[in-house]
Amino acid sequence: MITVVWFRQDLRVHDQPLLHRAAALGAPVVPLYVLPAHWTVPGPEGEDRLGAPKSAFLEECLAGLSLSLEALGLALVTVVASPVTLLDDWHQREPLQVVTAEADAPEEAQAIASLRARGLTVHEVGSRTLLAATALPWQGTFPATFSRFRRQVERHSGPFVDRPEGEPPALGSALAPPVPAGTKGVAPVLAQRRAGWQRCDKDYFSLPGGEQSARQWLQRYLFDARHIAHYKQTRNQLIGEGYSSRLSAALAWGCLSVRQIWHAILEYEQHYGANSHSYWLRFELLWREFFHWSLREHGVQSFCFTGLSDRQAEPPCLDSLAQRRWLAWQSATTGLPFIDASLRELLATGYVSNRGRQVLASFLVQDLGLDWRLGARWFERHLVDHDVASNWGNWAYIAGYGHDARGGRRFSPTREWWRHDPDASYLYYWLPELAGLSRAACLECHFRSVDQYHELAYPAPVISLPDSDRVVS
Ligand code: FAD
Repeated sequence: MITVVWFRQDLRVHDQPLLHRAAALGAPVVPLYVLPAHWTVPGPEGEDRLGAPKSAFLEECLAGLSLSLEALGLALVTVVASPVTLLDDWHQREPLQVVTAEADAPEEAQAIASLRARGLTVHEVGSRTLLAATALPWQGTFPATFSRFRRQVERHSGPFVDRPEGEPPALGSALAPPVPAGTKGVAPVLAQRRAGWQRCDKDYFSLPGGEQSARQWLQRYLFDARHIAHYKQTRNQLIGEGYSSRLSAALAWGCLSVRQIWHAILEYEQHYGANSHSYWLRFELLWREFFHWSLREHGVQSFCFTGLSDRQAEPPCLDSLAQRRWLAWQSATTGLPFIDASLRELLATGYVSNRGRQVLASFLVQDLGLDWRLGARWFERHLVDHDVASNWGNWAYIAGYGHDARGGRRFSPTREWWRHDPDASYLYYWLPELAGLSRAACLECHFRSVDQYHELAYPAPVISLPDSDRVVS
């Protein structure tokens, strides 16, 4: 009997409950990462799930994990396959048990159920959330809003978060069964997808992937640069180092566990005192937690057009007008400077600030009138920090089909830009063609008609914003 430790979005060796469970089981170990084959196949909108920055980030995470496991005497196997088909094939050759993280998304739950149906023993281990599945603070129904969720979680001075497990345990290694002939390796697939992509020259736009760089960044963010000291005040900014924690990609791929971050913040609070900034970072981690438990609760419903709401509605159809708008979005040529700057940042780096994401999602749904799921799938392809629960949960929330009972939220692209980019440095960085214009002229650009500013190598807006968006302060 061998134990296959099947890594998914938990690409680290420290505070790694999967390795501890494998050690407790006692059998020799084969570590495995399977890039799900369907991620490489274009979805209904013609794009797969592996944009260039995301592919590069994953490649770095896997390279780091492979090195860390090598130091433990284990050789990581990485393949592109259907995880169920591969593990079932291995099981036919050699008796094995699987240790893997608890399922988050329905797709993962289905894969684990299929493995069990085929006779494999799968040990699911909690590793992605602050709360343990066995000690959830709400009774019965899942709280309908974030506020109620937070109140329950924070009751009696909670949440109570287990301490990280620390160093990886000693493990015996097993030889991996052969992979079926014709199975592709992960490295060439990711290399092909990130070919030609270069990390942005300003490093605060994109941090490299992997456990080691994530640990270094956490140390720098909290203790060396102490950026957390202004978190609540700066978290909605758009550009620069340390305005927000930039921990999302490390969390999404599990280069750090959420409880490592939680306890590091508590440690910071012990050294420097707790305040509204350190609390607010933990508060935001509770948003992540909320969406994770919501996805586990609501499953496939979270991906339907009407999401968690009981509203009757049909998705808007993708007629020729909608197609034109969708193409403008995809190529970051909507003619609305703040929207295009945010889209360009996302395409170039795989990241955009929280405020940028809110404005983009609101724009796609409320102004372009497109199906919110197109936007969610597009984010899924491009975000280096893509996290199924947080991404789909936030999109549904803004579209009015999630936990937001108010029926959707509109963020004015002009007001938000004016407020959060006081010297237009964000806009000028991503739209250098506007660098000769004053900030006021950039604002006016959001409203110009086709025949204005002939001299600009920049398109006219694809839609007219409401007049109320002219009032920015
Ligand atoms: P910080 O402000 O430093 O927050 C710290 C951590 O708290 C984040 O890393 C994240 O884990 C969590 N967090 C903060 N805000 C939220 C939130 N609204 N929802 C859930 N968790 C949150 N976040 C993702 O991690 N992956 C996604 O795929 C994702 N998609 C999003 C899509 C849309 C339309 C919107 C509006 C938000 C999305 N977010 C997503 C949430 C949020 O924008 C990012 O977590 C945040 O911008 C990441 O930067 P940061 O780590 O510096 O955040």
